[in-house]
Amino acid sequence: MKLYNTLTKTIEAIEPIEPGKVRLYACGPTVYNYAHIGNLRTYIYEDVLVRTLRAHGYDVTHVMNITDVGHLQSDADSGEDKMALAAKREQKSPWDIARHYENEFFRHAGLLNIEKPDVICRATEHIKDIIDMVSVLVEKDFAYESGGNVYFDVDKFPAYTEFANLKLDAQLQTDRVEFDNNKRNQADFALWFSNSKFPNQIMKWDSPWGVGFPGWHIECSAMASKYLGEKIDIHCGGIDHVNVHHTNEIAQSECAFGHQWVNHWFHCEFLTIDAGKMSKSEGGFITVDTLVDKGVDPMAFRYLSLTTHYRSILSFSYEALEAAANALSKLKNHYKTASEAAGGVDDDFSNAAKRYRQRFDDAMGNDLHTPKAVAELWAVARDDALTDRDKVQLFDVFSGPLGLDLTPGKELGLTPEQEALIEAREAARANKDWAEADRIRDLLTAQGVELRDKKA
Ligand code: AMP
Ligand code: ZN
Repeated sequence: MKLYNTLTKTIEAIEPIEPGKVRLYACGPTVYNYAHIGNLRTYIYEDVLVRTLRAHGYDVTHVMNITDVGHLQSDADSGEDKMALAAKREQKSPWDIARHYENEFFRHAGLLNIEKPDVICRATEHIKDIIDMVSVLVEKDFAYESGGNVYFDVDKFPAYTEFANLKLDAQLQTDRVEFDNNKRNQADFALWFSNSKFPNQIMKWDSPWGVGFPGWHIECSAMASKYLGEKIDIHCGGIDHVNVHHTNEIAQSECAFGHQWVNHWFHCEFLTIDAGKMSKSEGGFITVDTLVDKGVDPMAFRYLSLTTHYRSILSFSYEALEAAANALSKLKNHYKTASEAAGGVDDDFSNAAKRYRQRFDDAMGNDLHTPKAVAELWAVARDDALTDRDKVQLFDVFSGPLGLDLTPGKELGLTPEQEALIEAREAARANKDWAEADRIRDLLTAQGVELRDKKA
């Protein structure tokens, strides 16, 4: 399987450190607000990557962190801790904020059929691991204490600018870093904050450098190595992480471990709306609940995401989403028609079906070309020369790595009785029999099925 590698800027074969196993780390959400559909585009693609690796026979360990402390307003060292800001905004404790938005993140991810990672690790539960890693960096003289904070000394890592082709002088003139007297070089970054961010911080821990909290970047390095060891096959994130977060992760990890840390870097391009990037801190962003409230199946957003390659910008519009919803429901109809006619499946593929399979595998194996893979789904749906049995088998095989469940109703995990109840309720609503509609809704609620009606 081949994948673009941000480190080498080329498409390269994946060659795991341990044959057959892939150790994969993904930067998780910062849980100070709902994830928006831009964030989720990145997680959909990471999910497609993991599913595809598994379909290619790799034994994948997928680790994802939860950033519940230490991510400042800028991705670098300026501004307040996002958790502290959210706590003020919502008049809650940062702990409550963190747990609430973490739960909401997984609920939304579930609605998009994103599988849960094998390991989910919260920064606040790994403070000792983080402090240990900072201590190693201080002992090895890659980091220094100043003004109560601990900083990574970028001058000790000559390759610092290579990963992102950084022009540090130019960047320091811009908004990347706020002037900090304690730093030897303004490009240095904080590993542990004690003094400068201390006064309002609720989430804080004791450390050899004073009471404080960790920087965001060191959290990922410490947790990734705890669960995956000191060498990782694939590290994932959104494209915005290249310049600061991943550059800093590489610097501190390679200095602490003394060798190359990650073989393959996978970055997903942005989702934009009205030509601007969607951003959590800007407000007014679209979440999965926004889509549900508008009566759109969240899986239509997954389908829409798959129709744009992960290294291209996805320019979101409701028109495109509606077209995706229609396309998905037509595909489901094709599946339904074929499966009713086929009457069953076996593992035998005709030669024509094998050719489709090959083309699908080639598309996904060549830098996760999901738009081509979706086009193969459609080619199968429209090919009258294929038997219904072939079609069903191909749909089943293709929908695995794409994470599209084309089986009618199954994607919601409903029983046939529940489906019948929903239909009966629709009929009651059409007849304006609100009492009956409410009765059925209550019945379904009691069974854990939440109904949301389309807004007019
Ligand atoms: P955050 O919760 O802000 O730490 O971001 C979670 C993930 O979403 C990270 O991998 C980001 O790089 C990614 N991300 C942030 N904004 C966007 C966007 N507009 N489109 C795609 N990915 C994004
Ligand atoms: Zn990270």
